[in-house]
Amino acid sequence: MRINKQIKTGNISALTFDSKADGWDSSSGFFMRKVPMPRIDEENDPKDAVSVIIKVMYAGICGTDRGIWARQVFRELMHDSLNKEGGTLRILGHEFVGEVVKAGSHVENLYGIKVSQKVSGDSHITCGRCFQCKIGEEEVCKDQTILGVSTNGIFAKYAKIPAKNLWEVDFSRIRPEVAAILDPFGNAVHACSKVDLRGKRVGILGCGPIGMFTILLCRTFGASKIIAVDRNSENLDIARELGADRAILISRKDASTYLPDKKLENAVRKLTYGKGVDVAFEMAGGNESVSNALSIARNGGDVILFGLKDGDFTIPKFSQIIVKRLNLHGVIGRQIFQTWQTSQRILHDKKNGVQDKIWSVILKRGRGTVMDFDKYTPELFKDKMKYPKILLKM
Ligand SMILES: [Zn+2]
Ligand SMILES: [Zn+2]
Repeated sequence: MRINKQIKTGNISALTFDSKADGWDSSSGFFMRKVPMPRIDEENDPKDAVSVIIKVMYAGICGTDRGIWARQVFRELMHDSLNKEGGTLRILGHEFVGEVVKAGSHVENLYGIKVSQKVSGDSHITCGRCFQCKIGEEEVCKDQTILGVSTNGIFAKYAKIPAKNLWEVDFSRIRPEVAAILDPFGNAVHACSKVDLRGKRVGILGCGPIGMFTILLCRTFGASKIIAVDRNSENLDIARELGADRAILISRKDASTYLPDKKLENAVRKLTYGKGVDVAFEMAGGNESVSNALSIARNGGDVILFGLKDGDFTIPKFSQIIVKRLNLHGVIGRQIFQTWQTSQRILHDKKNGVQDKIWSVILKRGRGTVMDFDKYTPELFKDKMKYPKILLKM
């Protein structure tokens, strides 16, 4: 017999976007609304047999969420998915940790997930049927939805999630606040798994949260010199605290610039005995930053492209990619669940200091970076966005 917890019925609070009531072009921010409590209803939806209800404990705010706040990313994906659902309301958010409070009838049999377990999970809900899913490349599933973008997310007291996306966490080994950001940490782990980093000189362009995680991981994976690059000097202060050997502040240019920053290239060459870095991580997502990554990589080097932005980019001197024999790697999401396994082992290992630095340096031990969901106001939230990484406590 399944044991499900007594959970509330009726309505719950959620942070949302409504394509009709708010309008993409006429609004910004997230809107607190009452939404129906999610239910497991296998009679009406057979997929509920393999879904769970999570009581969300903490939710992470991602660059994606900031982009949605400013209505700069995922306009099409959000509207197309809402049209397909025949609705207008999207519950936002995709980084979470929580407790399973209700499980469909096949959840335990098929996934080993039980009520009362603490879980985080991958934000990409893959189809399981396409070619990529079949060969274990779910991160490039051709028929996937993303929590909080193309299907309802987790900025709510409770959320319904497919059990196959869940990853059990052990709070005796990982703090709940850090477990809540396993998903973006996994992005960095995935990016750092593309090439062997032992003894490498690396450049990290863009030191937002995932760039910060990348610094910690490059150190852990044995990189010999880490050069952090950002336009924000506060991010670079954090980068140094996390273990970057050098930090280079680049100036803010107008967004249409696509040419590489010559000053940056020269500075990096100076730090690498004229060669350039072995591995350039592009974690910012601008055209200029991509050009910078290509220009600071040494001949024969690797360029990891993670920063994401809609629209067309211009590659100056395209031939350099071939002439320098650069290796380009696009990185999206996480490998499910290889990346999760690696992430967990790194965070559980107290000796590498990674979890401690995420908590003490990036999350500032929760001081100012954790916001009470019930006290949400757009003004307060906007103010909190000055921190690189913030959490909602549900
Ligand atoms: Zn995220
Ligand atoms: Zn698929």
